[in-house]
Amino acid sequence: RPLKVAIIGRPNVGKSTLFNRLVGRKIALVDDRPGVTRDRREGTAELGDLLITLIDTAGLEEADPGSLEGRMRAQTERAVDEADVSLFLIDARAGLTPTDRHFADMLRKTGKPVVLVANKCEGAAGDPGFYESFALGFGEPVAFSAEHGLGLADLHEALRAHL
Ligand code: GDP
Ligand code: MG
Repeated sequence: RPLKVAIIGRPNVGKSTLFNRLVGRKIALVDDRPGVTRDRREGTAELGDLLITLIDTAGLEEADPGSLEGRMRAQTERAVDEADVSLFLIDARAGLTPTDRHFADMLRKTGKPVVLVANKCEGAAGDPGFYESFALGFGEPVAFSAEHGLGLADLHEALRAHL
């Protein structure tokens, strides 16, 4: 059975880019504008010797009149609940935001396995955010760049630890 992996994080951290990078098909919509309605998508990917089913979460839907926070929480909790392990993405270039800390608290409360991924780590601009993210309490982050395909071996190793 494939390892089921949920991609979690606030809008714009690069969840869909990571999904597309691993699944290798452009079936998750990447958009610069936070708040664009995007469906949750699932796809199968091979990462080294691992077969994984990825769940890309939109994080929010602009059409829904409910509170933003509530919608993000509901979708995140559903995906985390189904998954064997969650990839918790932060944007290393932007540094930690209150929303990141919100997601971290929520993930911690589920008690389920989390791999912290510091995305957008290509170049030096991500260094401060990478080190800042240790404070989230999920251990050493995987330094990653979904756009450039960097960090795949480290991601593989981190996921393997949860088999
Ligand atoms: P999502 O809202 O979390 O799904 O984020 P997206 O995958 O839609 O990406 C949001 C923006 O971040 C897009 O403009 C992406 O091109 C950009 N992005 C994603 N991954 C990286 C990365 O590794 N490095 C940089 N510099 N930009 C990235
Ligand atoms: Mg997305």
